[in-house]
Amino acid sequence: MSIEKNLRMVNERIINASRRSGRDPGSVRLVAVSKTQPASAVLEAFKAGQLIFGENYAQEFRDKSSQLSGEIEWHFIGSLQSNKVKYLAGLTKLVHSVDRISLARELDKQWEKTGQKCNILLQVNISGEQTKSGTTASQAMQLAREAAQLPNISIRGLMTMPPFFDQPELARPYFRELRRLSQLIAKEKIPEVRMDELSMGMSGDFEVAIEEGATLVRVGSAIFGERHY
Ligand SMILES: *Cc1c(COP(=O)(O)O)cnc(C)c1O
Repeated sequence: MSIEKNLRMVNERIINASRRSGRDPGSVRLVAVSKTQPASAVLEAFKAGQLIFGENYAQEFRDKSSQLSGEIEWHFIGSLQSNKVKYLAGLTKLVHSVDRISLARELDKQWEKTGQKCNILLQVNISGEQTKSGTTASQAMQLAREAAQLPNISIRGLMTMPPFFDQPELARPYFRELRRLSQLIAKEKIPEVRMDELSMGMSGDFEVAIEEGATLVRVGSAIFGERHY
């Protein structure tokens, strides 16, 4: 199947899942996850109307984005070492994967030079699996308070990756828990903290995530096909 056809199908599924759960389909945005895909695949999706792309590796992002249109909205979704932040500064519209204050401080420092604010999501490891990155649910509030103090950081919401399941329905409790946590943080009314975005759902489970309130779904293989590492 072509990237264009895959994109059309994913977008239809997003619309259907939104309507089914009584949501405006415009409240869900698709992040096309293009890690390990060549710039030509990104271009193909862009020409088919896709605007937002998510990358996982800082150097790969830098090399790929420099070959592509400035109209693309880039998000960074992968785990990020502080010494790689310089490759992103001013180029990514949203960093989904902020899991520690030291990383938020480095983003703050690198974005200061660009004169823009760095929009971030706090990545929460809801399942507590050792292999997953993310702050714990109990520490997320504290991370929000500390990161909110940084002048060039704007906190926009939360992101999570549930454990992998064959059945998407099994991911539902994790999505629900992220939403509950975001409501809890929003209630604190911490200055400079907005909880408008919930980044959750991938190729295998994005419809369930939409039913549970996702505003950003990160979909890779359903658009680009299986990854070849
Ligand atoms: C790779 C990746 C995705 C997309 O995964 P697919 O199963 O290919 O849709 C989403 N989010 C993150 C953080 C990823 O690393």
